[in-house]
Amino acid sequence: MIALEETLIDLQPNNEFFIGIDSDGCAFDTMEIKHKKCFAPIFINHFNLQSVSKYATETWEFVNLYSRTRGTNRFAGLITTLDLLAKRDEVIMEKLQVPEFKSIRDWIARELKLGNPALKRAVDETNDSDLSRLYNWSFEVNESIGRIVRNIPPFSYVKKSLEQITNNADAIVISSANQESLNREWSENDLEQYVRFIAGQESGNKKDCFSQAAKGKYSPDKTLMVGDAPGDMAAAKANNALFFPIIPGEEEKSWELFYKEGLNKFFEGSYVGEYESQLKRRFLAHLPEHPPWQR
Ligand SMILES: [Mg+2]
Repeated sequence: MIALEETLIDLQPNNEFFIGIDSDGCAFDTMEIKHKKCFAPIFINHFNLQSVSKYATETWEFVNLYSRTRGTNRFAGLITTLDLLAKRDEVIMEKLQVPEFKSIRDWIARELKLGNPALKRAVDETNDSDLSRLYNWSFEVNESIGRIVRNIPPFSYVKKSLEQITNNADAIVISSANQESLNREWSENDLEQYVRFIAGQESGNKKDCFSQAAKGKYSPDKTLMVGDAPGDMAAAKANNALFFPIIPGEEEKSWELFYKEGLNKFFEGSYVGEYESQLKRRFLAHLPEHPPWQR
């Protein structure tokens, strides 16, 4: 087991190559159960959306699982869901007024580490009832994930890929899930031995985490992000890094391709260009921009 460094900034290269790996929906098939059994139902309860629960659920799943915003931070995803929901005909017909939640929007706009510790501080400092509602939802989500989400193995070819990665690259986990569930999932499956650091939402957003871990330490063309969401691709792009997509619904096939082909191309320097472009095109084709109910 490699000792985890104190912070991402402290991480010093042991290899020429660097790989950031997302966790939820990428290494593990945890997205569906977390969103369908934890995030969405608790959202409906805390934000009083019982009368439109069918549409709230559908909207939550579109935003967080089945569209370009898949994998977004939970708080950002909540606001996007409320905004889309407020515009739905079914919700307007119910005469349900979705509040603006200005203090939540303001907190999301100013906070760089969008996680429960920062939210708890904001609640304590402001006594704001909407922030408090948000915190209670988020806290209960973590509690329910801890209670419900277990026994989920990594996708096949993840472990083999990690073994192969560590021959030539330093790997870290870069995720917007909470630290506690990440530590549990990676250690339960004996995967933490392959990574030098596990960065959850409390460490900052993915772009910043990638930058802190890799910038100035590796040549950008020798850095790669593996993820299942456009946000992972954006974090790679912001760091001039390459991106390998784990395509939602085709995760096993994607990891097999990574293990048998993509990773070697990355190490050989033939990944950049048409090979990467066609992977990105296929990935985006799987994630719509606009919800089906708006078409
Ligand atoms: Mg993900």
